[in-house]
Amino acid sequence: MDVRLYRGCALVDHATRSLVPEGAVLVAGGRIDWLGPAADAPDPGPGAEVVDAGGTTAVAGMVDAHSHLTLPGGSHWIDRAADPTDRLLAVAEDNARLLRQAGVRWARDVGAPVRDGRALSLTVRDRWRGRPGYPYVRAAGCWLTRTGSLPAQLPVEVTDGDGLLAAALGQLDDGADLVKLYMDGPDRDTSPFTADEVRRVVEAVHARGATVTAHSSLLPGARAAVAGGVDAIEHGFRLDADVARAMAAQGTALVATLAVMESWESFATTTRLPRFASAEGRDALAERRAAAHESVRMAAAAGVLIAAGTDFGGGSLRANQLAWEVETLVAAGLEPYDALAAATVNGGRLLGEPGAGVLEAGGPADFLLVHGDPLTDPGSLWRVWRISW
Ligand SMILES: [Zn+2]
Repeated sequence: MDVRLYRGCALVDHATRSLVPEGAVLVAGGRIDWLGPAADAPDPGPGAEVVDAGGTTAVAGMVDAHSHLTLPGGSHWIDRAADPTDRLLAVAEDNARLLRQAGVRWARDVGAPVRDGRALSLTVRDRWRGRPGYPYVRAAGCWLTRTGSLPAQLPVEVTDGDGLLAAALGQLDDGADLVKLYMDGPDRDTSPFTADEVRRVVEAVHARGATVTAHSSLLPGARAAVAGGVDAIEHGFRLDADVARAMAAQGTALVATLAVMESWESFATTTRLPRFASAEGRDALAERRAAAHESVRMAAAAGVLIAAGTDFGGGSLRANQLAWEVETLVAAGLEPYDALAAATVNGGRLLGEPGAGVLEAGGPADFLLVHGDPLTDPGSLWRVWRISW
């Protein structure tokens, strides 16, 4: 059996939400055999590799709770969804490599173009299953929208609640692990589906053992989605205190993707795209960003489970930038411990995968070693030295 002792890494103590220096992690056969103070570490035995991990922190393999594996991101992220299938499959391979290098063990894919009659993310998930070095994937299939909400080449479009229900069940028939409703409509002031229409979908999807999540960047759609009982809200850029309270009360999670707006801000100087570079564009972004940060603070104050996502591919971030979301959650007002939890254990809870985002004895040996202290310096998550898987 492959045995390895990582000696000297700091460990996060969850009881005190603090960092304990000079720890050790013993790995055997892909599981955590033991972890604790380095001084108490068991003898790993002859033939074991001892890794001097001094000066690092061991962090549970991260969960990118909002990703688009088949798309590359960047300032032309929407155009790239029209690229040929072979190109998108190659992009997914690149993304798998980027995710691992960044310490992301799990990717929750929440939307992919349909190719050959099926969302391409499902093909990628099936192809990667069991392959060493690839992320574990849970995938939603395609975006389900009211006609006219997204560029027509992207989603499965429906015109009413019956169509939405049929489309949701169709995604499950295709093998989706969850269903993604697009709750921003063609009219910004009106939810594209009613709470009753959402509830019918939620009940039918739950009956088949899957979950429902809702894209929402505007308040009307968030209200209807939460009233309809969805399991999670993606983005949630405009929540109010009532919606946040309802989410906490019924266990609806928020998947935060705040760093998208940091990325757009950078496009003001790296591109000439008017949406980002014009004075109006910058003003609109500043207002949107302030509202989104306020929404995350309201959700946190209400006790909503917050998971972190990059939105890479379906937004402008790249696959190796989850650290940016953790940093931005801290900038928005979360404690670094809670922002790190959003990118690790909370993502695992969202997925219903108890071992995901958790570093504990008996659990999977999926962790990364970063240079620095993520509980005072979230930027240390960019400084990945080594990956255990
Ligand atoms: Zn997205």
